[in-house]
Amino acid sequence: MRVGGPIGRLQIPETTAHAVELLREHADGGDSLLVMGGGSNLVVADSGWPGTVIKMATSQLAIDGDRVTADAGVEWDHVVRTTIAEGLSGIEALSGVPGSVGGTPVQNVGAYGALTSDVLESLHVYDRETGSVERWLPERCGFGPHRTSVFKRNPRWVVLDVTLRLRRADRSNPITYADLAHALGIEAGQTAAPADVREAVLSLRRKRGMVLDPDDHDTWSVGSFFLNPVLAEVPEAASECPQHVVSEGIKLSAAWLIHRSGFAPGYGGDWGNGNVTLSSRHTLAITNRGGATTDDVMKFAAHIRGGVEDRFGVRLSPECDLINCSF
Ligand SMILES: Cc1cc2nc3c(=O)[nH]c(=O)nc-3n(C[C@H](O)[C@H](O)[C@H](O)COP(=O)(O)OP(=O)(O)OC[C@H]3O[C@@H](n4cnc5c(N)ncnc54)[C@H](O)[C@@H]3O)c2cc1C
Repeated sequence: MRVGGPIGRLQIPETTAHAVELLREHADGGDSLLVMGGGSNLVVADSGWPGTVIKMATSQLAIDGDRVTADAGVEWDHVVRTTIAEGLSGIEALSGVPGSVGGTPVQNVGAYGALTSDVLESLHVYDRETGSVERWLPERCGFGPHRTSVFKRNPRWVVLDVTLRLRRADRSNPITYADLAHALGIEAGQTAAPADVREAVLSLRRKRGMVLDPDDHDTWSVGSFFLNPVLAEVPEAASECPQHVVSEGIKLSAAWLIHRSGFAPGYGGDWGNGNVTLSSRHTLAITNRGGATTDDVMKFAAHIRGGVEDRFGVRLSPECDLINCSF
């Protein structure tokens, strides 16, 4: 989002062994520690982070048959590109999601009908409480229906690497997401070549400002700022909102609630000092138009949340991670 202040100390391990060594040095709980990948889902306070940041820069990527093992520091989209080039299918719909491999299980990254958990076979984690490295199966990760896992906002476990089980195939999984099927010129439920799925996804994402581009302020964001709320009961005022039944309750569309509360795409140019607005392409991303501070972002987020609460009685929560800041 290109906001936030300075950090105390930066460490950039390039091997998993070095990452574990650095993590062990922090076992005494001395200064506070933040582990990050690409930083694409973080909003950091203007006052910054006084402790240490470990930025994972580990880089091994190995393919063995239909299994792919990638270190936490590998760029996620590099994994997608490489596996498609190697004739593997399974993550092409997750093309263009910014960030690192290690960040991907944290909120069980998903897009266009695909989820990380669909292909995750196992992962190695470092347990900061016991100091041990463990191999976990997906069942232990606590993946919820929407952007949750045991790793989310829990500094105890650090993801070291991830093994995905893909398919050696020249066709994708059935495309369930209607917009994507339409872009590919197929019916929902049909398949396509993985490379074509990737191009169609990237094109759809670019149209929505969801592929990082330094010249495009709509991408100066954390992606979706708010979670789709899951409620036990839908308030009468929100009864027309698109809804899906999930195991925890009824999931509503945050984009719809925001828009219907009077915040159209691009909203914000004439609010506050105008340097934080909703994306001009959709209502889920809060964007930095240049020169914004974290304080500006927090005030704007509070304004949007307040408007939705007033109109529908539904309180939105952030999907991104707020580091030393809140609204
Ligand atoms: C333009 C844009 C589009 C996006 N589109 C999508 C989308 O379609 N779908 C989606 O799900 N998300 C999307 N996101 C959100 C983001 O891409 C994902 O959350 C991504 O997985 C974050 O990875 P990262 O490496 O940048 O994590 P960071 O932002 O560096 O960290 C995010 C959180 O993960 C933790 N973390 C990072 N690495 C590790 C590790 N190795 N072990 C333990 N914890 C770790 C951090 O401490 C932090 O709490 C989008 C973001 C942007 C900016």
